[in-house]
Amino acid sequence: MTLRGRLTAAFLVVVLGPVLLGAFFVGSTVVAVDRSRSAERLAVAAAAVRTSVDALCQQLRAAADAVALTGDRPAAAAQVVSRGLAAAILLTDVAGQTTYATPDAPPAPWRDCAAGGGAPGPVGALAVRVDLRDRSGASLGTVAAAQPVDPAFVARLAAVTGVAVTLLDGPGAPVRLRHTTESTGVRDAVLAAAGALDGERVAGTSDGRYVRRVGPSAGQPLPLVLSVPSDRPPGLYVALVAAVLLAGLLAVAAAGRLARVTTRPLVELAGAVDRVARGDLTARVPVRTRDEIGRLAGAFNRMTRETGTYVTALTSSRDQLRGHLAVLGDTLASTHDRQRILRVILHSAIAATGARAGAVLLVDTGGALVAQCTEGLDDPGPTDERPGPHRVPLGTGPVGAVAVTGEPRRGRVEPGEMAPGEPPCRTYVAVPFAAPAPADGPEATGRGDGPEPAVGALGVLALYDRLGGDEFDDDDLITLRTFAGHAAVAVDNVRVHEEAQRLSLTDPLTGLWNYRYLRESIRREVERASRFGRMLSVLALDLDRFKAVNDTHGHTAGDTVLAEFARRVRGEIREVDLAFRQGGEEFVLLLPETDARGAAIVAERLGAAVRDTPITVDAHGGTLAIRVTVSIGIAVFPGHAGSGQQVLDAADEALYAAKAGGRDTWRLADLPRAAPPVREIPVPVHAVSPSDGLPRAGAHRRPAPADVVPADADEVDAGTAPALPGSSHPASGGGASSGPHPPRQSRGR
Ligand code: GH3
Ligand code: MG
Ligand code: MG
Repeated sequence: MTLRGRLTAAFLVVVLGPVLLGAFFVGSTVVAVDRSRSAERLAVAAAAVRTSVDALCQQLRAAADAVALTGDRPAAAAQVVSRGLAAAILLTDVAGQTTYATPDAPPAPWRDCAAGGGAPGPVGALAVRVDLRDRSGASLGTVAAAQPVDPAFVARLAAVTGVAVTLLDGPGAPVRLRHTTESTGVRDAVLAAAGALDGERVAGTSDGRYVRRVGPSAGQPLPLVLSVPSDRPPGLYVALVAAVLLAGLLAVAAAGRLARVTTRPLVELAGAVDRVARGDLTARVPVRTRDEIGRLAGAFNRMTRETGTYVTALTSSRDQLRGHLAVLGDTLASTHDRQRILRVILHSAIAATGARAGAVLLVDTGGALVAQCTEGLDDPGPTDERPGPHRVPLGTGPVGAVAVTGEPRRGRVEPGEMAPGEPPCRTYVAVPFAAPAPADGPEATGRGDGPEPAVGALGVLALYDRLGGDEFDDDDLITLRTFAGHAAVAVDNVRVHEEAQRLSLTDPLTGLWNYRYLRESIRREVERASRFGRMLSVLALDLDRFKAVNDTHGHTAGDTVLAEFARRVRGEIREVDLAFRQGGEEFVLLLPETDARGAAIVAERLGAAVRDTPITVDAHGGTLAIRVTVSIGIAVFPGHAGSGQQVLDAADEALYAAKAGGRDTWRLADLPRAAPPVREIPVPVHAVSPSDGLPRAGAHRRPAPADVVPADADEVDAGTAPALPGSSHPASGGGASSGPHPPRQSRGR
């Protein structure tokens, strides 16, 4: 059932109920009043009947007495009849024989006035008998005076009482009519009602009359029925029913209209809600009134409008986020520039959470978190050249704590909670990110002093001050974790990439640069030397009779000799010098800004460093010291050749000369026939300090991959690139002192 149906029904019940009750009350009251008034009239009429009959009986008694007291009874009787005191006089003797009767006596039977109610049968006349006695008191007979009970008598009664009078044939049932003043149409109904009555009760007939019986009783021996028509207004019930019907019709119409008016806004509202449920947020409801429904409609409109605004904002922020994610994906896929990747990740994280500012901090080797990139902070942030001031010692402040515990944090900043290196802010969220666990378990970072970062921790992604003033919530934390995961993978990818690049340029056995990098480096160094008018010495090195070492002690021992040789070479050269393993037991050194004299000094020193200390190897089930020597050929650019390849070839030729000259020595290349003039830079002998025996080439230095080495090698040499934590060189033998990175070997001074 619809709301409208229920409202209509309720209204009808409320309106029609009282109408029906009122109609019933009016009807029943009218009937009750009418009945009591009619009963009253009938009671009055009954009293009048008794009085009339009683008066008639008195009159008959007086007539009979008058006849009895006179001597000439027949004459007296005639006189009484002629005066109308009685209709007839009847004299009887003691035997009961009629001795005299006036003419025209009424028909028998005569009902004695003194008779009780029990006398049966029809009544012809009403009579009074008195005894005749002589002086002595002996009975002489009776005198009876009678008055006929005929239609005229009944009519007189009716006239006296003012009601319709009916004389019955006898007092008992079934009642039969004798004389009546009732109209023919109602007689049967009156008789039927009278049959069921006794005493003074009043009954109604089907055609609206009230009936009661009077007598036979003592003093009134006639069985009479009195009846009066009802005083009820005619058509009362019809009028009432019509009124109720009319009220009902009006109520139905009014209820229908009222329900429609009441429910129309609700119907409109329901329709609008349906549209919203189908996704149409433009649905609005007309607000016609200021009542509750009007308020509801207004609130609905506001709600829908707000929801629409939210959806629009959400859609646009989702699109923005998609854009950021696309940029992020592109960046991750297309570059190994760590700064750029971290910048994009930070930017996307800030956009996704609505933060004012943020920073990516990486754990450095000095026990601190150093911001690698920032956004939204007053400070422009760090660059490659200049690490920013956001340096947070591990374990201090919320961000430092995150790096140590490995647990993300968010919340409001209590006064004094922030570490000195962190930016001023009101709210923050920070999540750690760690390198994907390596297959052989996490590395120990053990530096020994101060708090240590969580195992594998690379850094922390921190956002500051959520726009809008709210705190960062758990959703933000989850979002940030996603981005931190990206950051971890990206940083690790870059590390792996750099490592791979370094590996592709170094020789795994000795840790020196390989032949590939030699070609690249000789080209670059020659170009630089020629641009700045400097000299470059090239040394070609070859171990003497190395095949014999292999043959005698085995290939493994030979490898050990090669690695140790390389270590000694690294220890004998400057930081700016480059050492390469060209292949087998052949090596090349590039000594920038070094003339032939300087090169000769290095060659001399190298020969001594190799020759003087036998190399200890494991062979033949024990250790033994192997004595090796090296032959060296020297060529100088631009003195001996005009190109990289030529200077290499010249050094090779000098090497052959050294071999030919008995090995364990060095030779300078021959000058070409038409040598170009050379501007020499003198290198004093004391510029080369004696070896301290500590190989340090490349220690804690970043590799210089071919595609990132700047044309001006001084920049690389300046050593501004931050170190990568946890990277190590496969050929370095594990010790920190042997140095993970081979380029720019130095001979420290
Ligand atoms: P010399 O140069 O004095 O003329 O004699 P040599 O015996 O050193 O010359 P050769 O070029 O004939 O021998 C080079 C040997 O170096 C051949 C090979 O057994 C050895 N060799 C080359 N590469 C490696 C390597 O990676 N490891 C080891 N253990 N030996 C190598
Ligand atoms: Mg050789
Ligand atoms: Mg050799």
